[in-house]
Amino acid sequence: MALVRIAGAGLAGSAAAIAALRSGASARMWDPSRIPKHKVCGEFLTPEVQPVLEELGLWEQFLATNPARMRRMKLTFGRRSSESRFAESALGLSRYRLDALLRGEAETRGAQWIVERVPGRVDIVAHGRQFVPAGRERLFGFKAHFRGPVSDAVELYFFDGFYVGVNPVEDGLTNVCGLGPESGFKRLGFDYDALVCEGNRALAERVRPLSRSMDWLSTGPLVFDTRLTTPPVEELLAGDALQFVDPFTGTGMAIAIWTGGMAGRFAAEGRPAAEYYQSVRAGLERQNEWCARLRAALEFGWPRFLAPLVPPAWFFSLTRPKLESR
Ligand SMILES: Cc1cc2nc3c(=O)[nH]c(=O)nc-3n(C[C@H](O)[C@H](O)[C@H](O)COP(=O)(O)OP(=O)(O)OC[C@H]3O[C@@H](n4cnc5c(N)ncnc54)[C@H](O)[C@@H]3O)c2cc1C
Repeated sequence: MALVRIAGAGLAGSAAAIAALRSGASARMWDPSRIPKHKVCGEFLTPEVQPVLEELGLWEQFLATNPARMRRMKLTFGRRSSESRFAESALGLSRYRLDALLRGEAETRGAQWIVERVPGRVDIVAHGRQFVPAGRERLFGFKAHFRGPVSDAVELYFFDGFYVGVNPVEDGLTNVCGLGPESGFKRLGFDYDALVCEGNRALAERVRPLSRSMDWLSTGPLVFDTRLTTPPVEELLAGDALQFVDPFTGTGMAIAIWTGGMAGRFAAEGRPAAEYYQSVRAGLERQNEWCARLRAALEFGWPRFLAPLVPPAWFFSLTRPKLESR
């Protein structure tokens, strides 16, 4: 029986192990971090996640975790807002629950988890973001859960180089998560309460009825980059180890599970890495192009003028990946 060796047991690594086991191989994951634990993430999932989880036999278990459902999307740029309804509901689930679901399932199905950093060469690299900042200003992310009135919308607030997402997750909790430039955080003394309560009037009104139920978490520096242009010849990179794109698309988790699952199947079946990367490119090329354009537009401040004219559904449809099973 083939053994598939995996660096990382986050979403991508656990999905790789589950897919390898379902393809008849055995799986070994190395990961020094214990779960469940909270992670900096918007915890917003687009409908693409359903077929990706179905492929791993996990959709029913996912629904049993009681994810929140979102029917609307609202974008606020400075003082201007616009809103659209989703054609299909989006979902909200904490990383505490989602990571536990995937890693637990991998172990239940027989994957071995070694609680150490990966010691050497592996078949699948799924150890998350490890891109090195070069030149550009460093970005950082932050997040906390809040209690209070629950909405059925995902709301994104863009201001002064920051954006902050507010959306429901399970059990009546609301996730508040954002990212921005180091210089902006320094100006505020890294005071996240001050940022969400004073940085933008519409955001301050949105969070006023809520009360924070956990300490703020932060992460960074964040670097948007991809290794899809020059991938390694043999190793299969999956999830954020392959690429980290701007999280405003809300698809990083679905892509991590999709690439992880596909890498697990390719490794178990001994299929060539070049074919794997070709399949990933076919799914992500259009999204990557639009994300690069929208990030550039954000940096020039254009959305402030365009937002009232363009419905959020248009931005949403442009940044959809095609996560087809291969
Ligand atoms: C601010 C922010 C907001 C976001 N919001 C969203 C959102 O709303 N929706 C969405 O879909 N995505 C979002 N994302 C993206 C999403 O969080 C990632 O795409 C996702 O976590 C990628 O999963 P992964 O398994 O590749 O990596 P990770 O979840 O980072 O897992 C990597 C694992 O590898 C382990 N590891 C690290 N180094 C080693 C090593 N040397 N050896 C072995 N193991 C190692 C780590 O302990 C970890 O368990 C957001 C990201 C950020 C930063």
